[in-house]
Amino acid sequence: MSNFKCQCCDQENPPGGLKYVVEIKSFADFEGYIEGNDGEAESSVNDLLMYMDDIDQQVLEDDVYQEMRFTVCKDCRDKFLKNPFQIYKEYFYKEEFRGTLH
Ligand SMILES: [Zn+2]
Repeated sequence: MSNFKCQCCDQENPPGGLKYVVEIKSFADFEGYIEGNDGEAESSVNDLLMYMDDIDQQVLEDDVYQEMRFTVCKDCRDKFLKNPFQIYKEYFYKEEFRGTLH
């Protein structure tokens, strides 16, 4: 049996150690609003259908839905869950400023 290697930090997991699966799903979510009056709305839908006919099927599928799966160590899982998009954000705890996430 081969040792598990984290897909994020590339470290080998100790024998018997836990590994974690992180799944990311992204999908388009239409809010249901089409700008314009009835004639303009129909034109917008037709424009969208023509656009969909012109682009590659895989590009269209990727634009609507994507799924990723990673097997990682506990440290990498914890870091990801604390700040999945690696953005700097001020955070508060019970109305009190506590710091900045890095
Ligand atoms: Zn790791």
